[in-house]
Amino acid sequence: MVEALRVKGINDEMVLRAMEEVPRHWFIDGALDTFAYEDRALKISCEQTISHPSTVAMQSQLLNVQPGMKVLEIGTGSGYQAAILCKMGAKVFSVERQKGLFDKTRALLAELGFRVRCFLGDGYQGLKEVNYGPYDRIIVTCGAREIPTALMQQLKDGGIMVIPLDDDNGQEMLRITKEGSEEKDWKVERFGAYSFVPMLDGRQMR
Ligand code: SAH
Repeated sequence: MVEALRVKGINDEMVLRAMEEVPRHWFIDGALDTFAYEDRALKISCEQTISHPSTVAMQSQLLNVQPGMKVLEIGTGSGYQAAILCKMGAKVFSVERQKGLFDKTRALLAELGFRVRCFLGDGYQGLKEVNYGPYDRIIVTCGAREIPTALMQQLKDGGIMVIPLDDDNGQEMLRITKEGSEEKDWKVERFGAYSFVPMLDGRQMR
């Protein structure tokens, strides 16, 4: 899998090492094990998906994470992306809106020994109730319809957010560097088309 990622242009050795060391099959249902190392998205519970390995690698590379950084993830899902960031030495805070997935994945990450702090909530709001921010990096792993202002407020000055954003032409991966608090100071770079499940409002209690 890691060789295939290199071919696809992933060259951040920290990302490649983490993806080599964290078995992806831990995060998917047994019945799909045979596909765990193919570059495809797979179904997890609650009608959600674990992203393609190449997407996880690309988002992790775009984030430019250094050990010790505080990273906020929106969309815990299977926990795989959070585990990769954890393996890269980040302090990971992850928000999921579906109670069923939140319960299951929080337990799984703890059982596997990944120290990810998991929260049930609406990622459009970030982590407002608990004050762990501001974050060095924010990664959104569901398709947002706008750049969430609350998340930009919780990002450090100089920080980076990687987010798939919907527009009329589909979904595009953006990297936003917060060079100042005002919107005019957000540097936006574009990295092509992606297809994530939608980022939905509010939390869902099942
Ligand atoms: N990072 C995940 C990808 C999961 S798919 C992984 O590695 O497996 C995206 C996830 O985002 C889904 O679990 C979905 O329930 C969640 N999601 C959608 N909208 C959300 C929101 N507003 N806040 C938090 N999570 C959200």
